[in-house]
Amino acid sequence: MKKKQVEDIYAFGADLGGNNLRWGLVNQKGDILMHEKVASKGIKSKDKLLDHIFNTVRDGVIKCQNAGYKIKGVGIGIPGLIVKDKGYVLKSPNFAELNSIYFQRLLEERVKLPVIIENDVNAWAWGEYAFGAAKGFWNFMVMTLGTGVGGGVVVDKKLIDGRDGTAGEVGHITIYPDGIKCNCGNTGCLEKYASATGIVDNLKQHINDEGAIELVRIIGKDIGAVTSIDIYNQAKKGNAFAIKLFKGAGVALGIAIAGLVNLLNLEAIIIGGGVSAAWDIIVPELRKEMMKRAFSLPARRCQIMKNDLGDNGGILGMAKMVFDM
Ligand SMILES: [Zn+2]
Repeated sequence: MKKKQVEDIYAFGADLGGNNLRWGLVNQKGDILMHEKVASKGIKSKDKLLDHIFNTVRDGVIKCQNAGYKIKGVGIGIPGLIVKDKGYVLKSPNFAELNSIYFQRLLEERVKLPVIIENDVNAWAWGEYAFGAAKGFWNFMVMTLGTGVGGGVVVDKKLIDGRDGTAGEVGHITIYPDGIKCNCGNTGCLEKYASATGIVDNLKQHINDEGAIELVRIIGKDIGAVTSIDIYNQAKKGNAFAIKLFKGAGVALGIAIAGLVNLLNLEAIIIGGGVSAAWDIIVPELRKEMMKRAFSLPARRCQIMKNDLGDNGGILGMAKMVFDM
């Protein structure tokens, strides 16, 4: 282990995900020196969930301090609409128990250190910028294709939070005005075509098509139990309808990205999340659609890239924000 110096200071970065709460002790070069992962799923009372999160962070901080590390502060990425300067969780689709909570102040009381909170995908974008695939870029976007579609935008080296802290919600850009109804209240959102749930929803939309009937038969499950992973496994084996569903995700992404490229002249779109496993099916369609719709100069400029940091992106991004504060 590297010898610690007296002036060394560290950041405690955490990432609250739908399944797990993960934290890491991070140095200024972006190395994770200690880390832990605990389950975050299935705690349905607000008080119990808050206690679980706050105690996990507090115990982690104490563990790091007992190991001799001096911690500057705690940063935690949270899924949902975060009002960053007030440290307030406006709305979290995965954790409704956290809605309308002054999360930052409550956590500060518990850990006795400065706390910063941010949307989880914005945190990831900042991590890729500081330590990952976006190093050296001034203008880029990170997109996660998971249960939903999340986004974090950096323009002129600044993370775009927006006036209320809600910017970056690329998953809820309208792609098809009369399309599938989204949980957000809109119809035809990108998320309904390019996320894991979107892929399954599209199969259900076409359930009377011959190809869809055949696909569900091969998967061998009730339609209600089919997952995007089942569909992906069949796509890999060459099933035409499964491939079509993932190509549809690529087209929807390309439509959204063409607009973003025209608007922001981005250098890169950096993609992560489970659905991006189908990269070889999705990305050629995405590129084709982007080239077709966007101005040629910015479209040629914009690279479509895989992310570097994976599950550690949020932890590293929050750690960087702590060092920056
Ligand atoms: Zn939506």
